[in-house]
Amino acid sequence: MRKFAANIAFTGTKHIQNPLIITSDDGEILSVTEKKFDSQEIAGLEYYSGMIIPGLINAHTHIELSVPNHCYQAKGGILDFVQHVIRLRRNNAMPDEKSIAKTLRQMQFQGIRAFADIANSTISFPAKNANKQIASKSFFEFFPLSSEQADQQADVFMHCKTKFPEADIFPAFHSPYAISLAGLTVIQQHFEKTALSSVHFRESEFETTLHAENNPLNRFYRNMNPDFKPAFENPDFSNGQGKILENTQQLLLVHNIHITEQEILNLKKWSENQRVKLNFVLCPRSNDNIAGILPPLDLLMEHRLNICLGTDSLLSAPNLSIFDEMKFLQQKFPALRLQDMLKMASFNAANALGWSEDFGEIAVGKCPGLNLIEMKQLKRDVLHPEAQLKVLI
Ligand SMILES: [Zn+2]
Repeated sequence: MRKFAANIAFTGTKHIQNPLIITSDDGEILSVTEKKFDSQEIAGLEYYSGMIIPGLINAHTHIELSVPNHCYQAKGGILDFVQHVIRLRRNNAMPDEKSIAKTLRQMQFQGIRAFADIANSTISFPAKNANKQIASKSFFEFFPLSSEQADQQADVFMHCKTKFPEADIFPAFHSPYAISLAGLTVIQQHFEKTALSSVHFRESEFETTLHAENNPLNRFYRNMNPDFKPAFENPDFSNGQGKILENTQQLLLVHNIHITEQEILNLKKWSENQRVKLNFVLCPRSNDNIAGILPPLDLLMEHRLNICLGTDSLLSAPNLSIFDEMKFLQQKFPALRLQDMLKMASFNAANALGWSEDFGEIAVGKCPGLNLIEMKQLKRDVLHPEAQLKVLI
């Protein structure tokens, strides 16, 4: 048994002054109360100066694309970034199993308890299964530019599921644009009954005009396959990917930098009609590096959406730390409250990923992991750039 006390805690949904948190040896929360007297003597108490928070959840990353020291920062836009990734793949610069295991350990030291990972192959699964300190759910990403590619990708998807039955693997669309009509007919069946799915959404301003002959995304993919015809030419989500994903329970829309208020309203209506829970994952450092554009956070918050935080891969972010992502967000949105960011990075993400009984909240019966934020002026509810994160469990 361990006993923790600090100046304050944020449980994932609320603050507790002078918290006393008791856990089992394996990290299960046994009780969360307010410590009554400063002088209360409790044997074996670990007292910390700072704020205790739950383990953080990275709601979007690509472990197998996380090549250290290859962070793209050119702000050249999504197509330039895609070419950067293609060049690295051709140069065999992608990480091996050993470096993936190291990346996972780094995430653990950055206070991350669980993460959602985009996979294109089997390579990340041995390390994800071996590291029991950090939980994961994987989205196998389809981006078929032809029916042949769709067949190959569907084979790899089924192979991942068969070879790693203990892993939670769900199908995901890369985006609205990198899916061909011919490919969609092959892969569509995998999306019809999935509990979770994910898609890079409104990361490019060109994904709503795919029908136009001179659309840069359409032109780029036609250069790779002259027969390419985009599957989702209709910019209305409910008439495109929404039709295929209408039986999904939880859908993660990742990035949202070009989302409009009208689209938010349409998505909310679709989500209510189809009873699909929508989650909006933001990766602001990646957006800043790739396009120099940030998501419309105020707009998303005004609509009271379930917002989560991700990092994307090391190809567009300097590290996979959600705490550093929060610091960046705080710098760009000074009015944003620390408690709102913490909720995004814990409670909201656990809900989005089907982990609400396990992680994302310091509550009895859960095993969320515990971190400590050490910083000056704790009460201001602003994340100070010099704040430090220390992993307690
Ligand atoms: Zn991504």
